[in-house]
Amino acid sequence: MDKPVELTGLSQPELVTFVETLGEPAYRGRQLFAALQHRRLRSFDEITDLPKELRIRLSEIARASTLKVESQYTSSDGTRRYLMKTHDGLPVETVFIPEERRDTICFSSQSGCPLQCTFCLTAQLGLLRSLTAGEIVEQIMIALNDAYGIGVKPPKGTNLVAMGAGEPLLNLDSLLKALRVMADPQGLHIVPNRVTVSTAGVVPRILDLANTSDRPHLAISLAAPTDELRDVLMPINKRWPLEDLLGACKAFEKTLKPGERLTFEYVMLDGVNDSDEQARQLANLLNRHGIRSKVNLIPHNPADPLPYQPSSPDRVERFKNILESKGVHTYVRRPRGRDIFAACGQLAARQGTLNNLTELTSIGANN
Ligand code: SAH
Repeated sequence: MDKPVELTGLSQPELVTFVETLGEPAYRGRQLFAALQHRRLRSFDEITDLPKELRIRLSEIARASTLKVESQYTSSDGTRRYLMKTHDGLPVETVFIPEERRDTICFSSQSGCPLQCTFCLTAQLGLLRSLTAGEIVEQIMIALNDAYGIGVKPPKGTNLVAMGAGEPLLNLDSLLKALRVMADPQGLHIVPNRVTVSTAGVVPRILDLANTSDRPHLAISLAAPTDELRDVLMPINKRWPLEDLLGACKAFEKTLKPGERLTFEYVMLDGVNDSDEQARQLANLLNRHGIRSKVNLIPHNPADPLPYQPSSPDRVERFKNILESKGVHTYVRRPRGRDIFAACGQLAARQGTLNNLTELTSIGANN
């Protein structure tokens, strides 16, 4: 039997074509799109405005949803974390972060991750596989349904960040496909301008993204101001060193809209990359390339087997002051959801919270 079609990854025109191949009229495709993407229904049984025979036929050849929530946790700061499984049993994690004026959903682009950044827990899973467009869209539906109720319009704006598990630019086609589906005003209606994609620095794909119309915003994970240190912390640097990376950023800069800035993320590791000297090196590096950008300092989120500690708040502040004194716009990212392992670099299919026993349960994890 052919693989079932994942309907959540199809745009409205594609759903219309799909139902037409079944001999159905076009409006059934539009109905189906509204049921999945606007009403956020996750099974054919619930789409009662479609004739029963059509629902039976659809369930034989297609899927209305594929991800299953295995467990979920709510942090003391309101952050919610969802641990899900794909139809083939692989872990997917999504984090919902409520903020006063908007919500942010942090989604995964891959199950596990092929990159081997030494400060990130997800790296320990290795790459299990890239997610499909439908699996990306579903993560957002699941988070919104849980936070607000099935199909309820979110009361605030929704921002998306591709900062969960995986390297989004190694799954760029599915990612862009998902973003096109989600942008539809008759569906989730989350436009690319609300989306930030974070990359460890896949240089050729940064250039591809620069040439994409309706592209999302871009963030680059730096973690080090020199090749010597970045080679160790982020082995992808050996393939695309800082000069190549910043060259690609310079090309990307030409596509920035008025007011838009490229973001550089810098995870702060105590005694490793947080000295005054390294702050000056970082400022000089960025100033030398003169890219319209800002720096987000991310205090390291501790993750048990990793040999790092977060920089102290004073150190982070001092680092920030040095950058700013050299004209670099700098922000400090407040960690969210650390107590439920929802913070950056903590996603590795861990069960539980800080208050109960934790263990690495996933396939491929170093137990
Ligand atoms: N692969 C992509 C997206 C996932 S990581 C990338 O590398 O950008 C999202 C951000 O979390 C990155 O900036 C990364 O540097 C940061 N990060 C990873 N592990 C972390 C940890 N343990 N504490 C704080 N930030 C971390």
